Amino acid sequence: MCSKPIKGKFVVVKWTGVFIKGTEPLASSSKFTSRGNQGTWDVLRRYSSFVKLTLVFAYVLRFIDNAKAKRSETKRQGILTAQEIQNAKIQIFKLTQQEAFPVEIKCLQAKKPLPKSSKLISLNPFMDDHGVVRVGGRLSNAPISYAQKFPVVLPKDHHITELIIDQVHKQQLHAGPQATLAAIRQHYWPLSGRGIVRKRLNRCNRCFRVKPVRYEELMGNLPENRVTMSRVFLNCGIDYAGPILIKEGRGRGKRISK
Ligand SMILES: [Zn+2]
Repeated sequence: MCSKPIKGKFVVVKWTGVFIKGTEPLASSSKFTSRGNQGTWDVLRRYSSFVKLTLVFAYVLRFIDNAKAKRSETKRQGILTAQEIQNAKIQIFKLTQQEAFPVEIKCLQAKKPLPKSSKLISLNPFMDDHGVVRVGGRLSNAPISYAQKFPVVLPKDHHITELIIDQVHKQQLHAGPQATLAAIRQHYWPLSGRGIVRKRLNRCNRCFRVKPVRYEELMGNLPENRVTMSRVFLNCGIDYAGPILIKEGRGRGKRISK
C-alpha cells in the first residue's frame, strides 16, 4: 500500500505488503489489520522491544492520518504526543487479541455469552470503548486507575506478552518473578501469568549473570569416632576456635556461612 518508508526517529520498517484497511481520527479506535503468521508483514513479531514497536505503530498511524488530511495545516509533525502513543498501544492490543481470542471477541461484539471452554470465562471479560478486551471484576468503585481495575487481557504464548514482560522486568530493575508480575498486573492481565513470567525471566541474561550457580565443595570423610556406635560421652571434642565464618563473595548482603 505504501511504498515509501516513513521518516522519523525509528525508520526501520519497509512498508511493502502492508495491508491496512484504513483508520479513523486519532481519538476513536482505528481499524488496522496485519496479515499475521500467514502474510509477509507480521509487524507484531518484527521488534524485540515493546517501546520501539509502539513508536513504529504511532508513526504509521500518524502517516495514515496525514496522508488522509486534506489541508496541510492539520498534518501532524514533530515528536509524538502521549495521545498518539496511547492510540498505538490500543492498536497493538487489539491486533494481539484478535489473533489470540477470535471466538471470544466475536461473542463480546455480539453481546453473547462466551463458550464454556473459553480460557477467558473466569475473568468475566468485557470490551472497552476502543474494542480492547479487559478483565471485568468487582473493583469499579475502588480508588485506583482504570487500567488497574480492568487490566488488558494478554494471551499466554504471544510475542507481545513476552515483550511487555521484558519491558516491565527492566523497568523494575530486574525484579524477581513475583514483583515483575505484580507490576505487570497494574496494567495487563497475562493468562497463566506466573508461569510465563518465570519462564521469561529465566532467559534474562543479566539476571543469569548476577546469579551464578554456587560451587558446593565435597565434604571429607567423617572421623572414626563419629561413625562407630558407642556409649554417650565416651568420645567428646572441644572446639576451642569455634566455627570459622566465611563470607561468600564480596559486596553487600552476602551470606556468611560456617
Ligand atoms: Zn533480568
